[in-house]
Amino acid sequence: MPKKLSLLMLPGDGIGPEIMAEARRVIDWLVSHRGLDFTVHEDHVGGAAYDVYGKPLSDDALACAKEVDAVLLGAVGGSKWDGVDYDKRPEAGLLILRKELELFANLRPAICFDALVDASSLKPELVSGLDIMIVRELTGGVYFGEPRGIETLPNGERRGVNTQVYTTSEIHRIARVAFDMAAKRDGRLISCEKANVMESGLLWREEVTKIGADYPNIKLDHMLADSCAMQLVRNPKQFDVIVTDNLFGDLLSDVAAMLTGSLGMLPSAALGAEGSGAMYEPVHGSAPDIAGQGVANPIATIMSLAMALRYTYDCADEAQLIEDAVKKVLAGGLRTADIMQPGKAKVSTAVMGDSILQALDSLNR
Ligand code: NAD
Repeated sequence: MPKKLSLLMLPGDGIGPEIMAEARRVIDWLVSHRGLDFTVHEDHVGGAAYDVYGKPLSDDALACAKEVDAVLLGAVGGSKWDGVDYDKRPEAGLLILRKELELFANLRPAICFDALVDASSLKPELVSGLDIMIVRELTGGVYFGEPRGIETLPNGERRGVNTQVYTTSEIHRIARVAFDMAAKRDGRLISCEKANVMESGLLWREEVTKIGADYPNIKLDHMLADSCAMQLVRNPKQFDVIVTDNLFGDLLSDVAAMLTGSLGMLPSAALGAEGSGAMYEPVHGSAPDIAGQGVANPIATIMSLAMALRYTYDCADEAQLIEDAVKKVLAGGLRTADIMQPGKAKVSTAVMGDSILQALDSLNR
């Protein structure tokens, strides 16, 4: 009997429904061709949910998100909801999910497909074969630390304050996610902070080192975050897994993303504690400029599904199949408009989806 797998799909706004439709076809293929026993729920999030429920995530959708093994989200946002109260804005739907599912670990892979090496801002030889995983702490650090705010001093000058704060338990749990990730990959982990100038960084370094004692097979090294930024653009292939805090992770994952060339290709995951929630989503937004035209690139969403198969559903073979199918289609010269190159064939969202399904068929034989 195949294991029962449950998923909540939240297409969201803009191109969200278009790219999610292609991910849905891949799920249907997995059910019919690989025998996976998926129960798929679907609901609204973001502006689409606001239009239906008057809030960016309904109580039922939140309850369902807590119930299922994983959430697959398209994208949220759009100018239509600019005038809506802050706590009902589309983006609030995402924040509610992150908070309620306690998604403290953000996984951002930066993979450079051979067919797209020319799209990178770096030289092809520096990025060909690139495969980095950045593990970013998502719910602590300077974005949440207290005290925070803007105050006016007695002399009339204004002062802005944010506080970088981490506890040992916060560091331990993100470190374990990163060590576990490295164990599933090449076994190398770089931990980044600014231990040279920040006490919170020193604590981070000491506590990650302590957790490392439980993972004797993982090679742990420490790097200052500014040095890591420099190394990412100098010699990115030296990295396997990078673990870092919320602020540095925000910056470093964007740098790593751009090494790969296109926003439409990048998946991500946010994970909670073992056995609790998980949410997978493309890195890009709702792309209002191309919404409804059928030209969006569905690959980031389909690769997010592949991540879910690998990291939540324990279906590494199916994840690999999807990744190989995407590579095959790109190698065959098909491109959506965002990754179009001279001499290649420009295709719509649906044709890219069709081609990935055909590649799955041929690789599954
Ligand atoms: P965006 O990622 O939506 O778009 C940036 C550019 O990339 C646009 O030109 C867009 O057409 C293109 N693009 C993005 N994804 C693409 C895809 N799959 N295929 C082809 N082209 C693609 O970023 P933005 O324009 O800054 O933001 C638009 C809206 O999305 C805003 O409301 C923003 O708040 C929201 N947003 C949401 C998320 C999310 O849901 N996680 C993330 C970022 C931005």
